[in-house]
Amino acid sequence: MSNADPPREAEEPVVVEIDGLLWKPCPGAEATAAEFEVARSLFIEAHREARWNQWLEAERAADLKAATAVMGQWTRAEPGFRHKTPQEVEEWLASWEAEYEAERAERERQRRARAAEYDEHRHQARLALVEQQSILKAQLAERTGLQEKTHFPGMEERRRAAKTAKLDADVAETEATIIALMDKVGDPETVVDVNGWLPSHRRELALTDFIYWRCDEVQRLRGEVDRLTAEVGAADRTQRRELRAQADRVRRRFDALRAMTPLQAKDMCPECFRPAGWHGWSTCGDPAFLGCGPCPAWPRWSARLHRLHEMLSSSQKHPEPAAVPKPQPLAVISSGKSIDEVVEELSRIRAEHPGAEVRRGSRNRWEIWPSENAALHSGLDR
Ligand SMILES: [Zn+2]
Repeated sequence: MSNADPPREAEEPVVVEIDGLLWKPCPGAEATAAEFEVARSLFIEAHREARWNQWLEAERAADLKAATAVMGQWTRAEPGFRHKTPQEVEEWLASWEAEYEAERAERERQRRARAAEYDEHRHQARLALVEQQSILKAQLAERTGLQEKTHFPGMEERRRAAKTAKLDADVAETEATIIALMDKVGDPETVVDVNGWLPSHRRELALTDFIYWRCDEVQRLRGEVDRLTAEVGAADRTQRRELRAQADRVRRRFDALRAMTPLQAKDMCPECFRPAGWHGWSTCGDPAFLGCGPCPAWPRWSARLHRLHEMLSSSQKHPEPAAVPKPQPLAVISSGKSIDEVVEELSRIRAEHPGAEVRRGSRNRWEIWPSENAALHSGLDR
């Protein structure tokens, strides 16, 4: 930023046109037209990028401060141009608010009208259609992989042919299901949810949600990466490997989320706040641990999740009986001790456990066990 350059004599007033607007330097301005244009571009670009990467505003705070100082040295140059008075600004705001409120009321009226037409069967059919289209995509990719031998290159030919034939049948069945569902659904973009929102509306809401979630998550992961990195440095050898693996997982997620290029509403899943591109049935996993996979709103997947949830809940309601602890001797006397030491130890044990029995244990040790009768009474199962 050249506002750090030494002061120089004010140049002859000039007028420049930038993006259709005319600009001229204020009296005493030191910043040149080129410097003003660079500062203005930086200011606009930084704020535009900050909608997607909110942390950039903080990272570029010094640049933005310098750009603001340069921009303050130039003003609009259209003949007769003047800034609005506070009264005019207030009037403009009031008119904008009234316009916004009218639009909002109209949108709300339309939403209620659509909600009254809500058709549960059509809504569910649309979800099933999107799910089946995703399944078909996965089946076609798997079939191509088998045919081109990029999937399971070492597979025996007869098995490959049988698997491909099975996939052909699956593809045909899925296509038939899709045709039947398309018949029920019609234009999927006109199917409203129970609240009267169209998929396009829900994508817009999903994008806003995702932008805020992603920015918060990037900041949280940044802190987590720093914490784990410090812990790896301070850990002993046994803990270091696990901590390093954990730090690696968090860093991969952080890098992947931070590197995401800006999405638009059309890129979002209208059912959840994830990008539609994250949904699928790939068996390649989710290397960055972003939560890729089928959409939880898809009926088949949702039913599977529900069954899993039921199983987990029921196992928590009826926990596995606690394992019966393996019986342990009351005491152990290792070999290699002097007779005096053994007698002394036995005397102490006899005082604590009168009636206990001495048995030969592993590695020539003597083990002291409760007597058979005592064991029966204590419930130990030997
Ligand atoms: Zn989704």
